Amino acid sequence: MKEMIDFDDELSEKQLEQNGIENDMVEDSILQLLKAVGEDPTREGLKFTPKRVARMYSELLSGYHVDPEVMINGALFNITYDEMVLVRDIEFYSLCEHHILPFMGRVHVAYIPDGKVIGLSKIPRIVDMYARRLQVQERMTRQIADFLRDLLKPQGVAVVVEAVHLCSMMRGVRKHDARMTTSAMHGAFRANLATRQEFLDNISRGATPLQI
Ligand SMILES: [Zn+2]
Repeated sequence: MKEMIDFDDELSEKQLEQNGIENDMVEDSILQLLKAVGEDPTREGLKFTPKRVARMYSELLSGYHVDPEVMINGALFNITYDEMVLVRDIEFYSLCEHHILPFMGRVHVAYIPDGKVIGLSKIPRIVDMYARRLQVQERMTRQIADFLRDLLKPQGVAVVVEAVHLCSMMRGVRKHDARMTTSAMHGAFRANLATRQEFLDNISRGATPLQI
């Protein structure tokens, strides 16, 4: 009888194929890892771990193969609005490229349009496109800001990322460094102190401390 494996995820075979990750290679690497740490990869609890982990990475690292044009899908609108658009507290989960451990937190995005706006639901998708890769927080922050700058050609764009890093917390070497805030500013947010301050005041207002 064929044993049913509960992968505990919602990935379809099609999704697994489309995100461009070599699942077999990941599976094999995890099998090697289990052996390398002295585990018995054939025991009940570990039997399907390589398969599960491969599926997990194909989800957590799906950001490499997102086609931005398909993702944006025409959700750009011409509009005469030149006040700050702010989306705060976008939850994200990423993996640090130094340890392949999670870092997670919130992203705050603001821009001042110059004739073009983007559908609000797309901004978390843009965050995910960059979060679901092996990352460093500083680069992720900049990539989100640069993407919006290039896409919208706005008067300004600002991105602040607050995150906690498990590689610092779990390894107990630099616990005080576990929380980190990074920012990237373009245009008006860089040039104009009052604009930048308005954004920073906005995101700190009613902010709840990061918790995991
Ligand atoms: Zn790390």
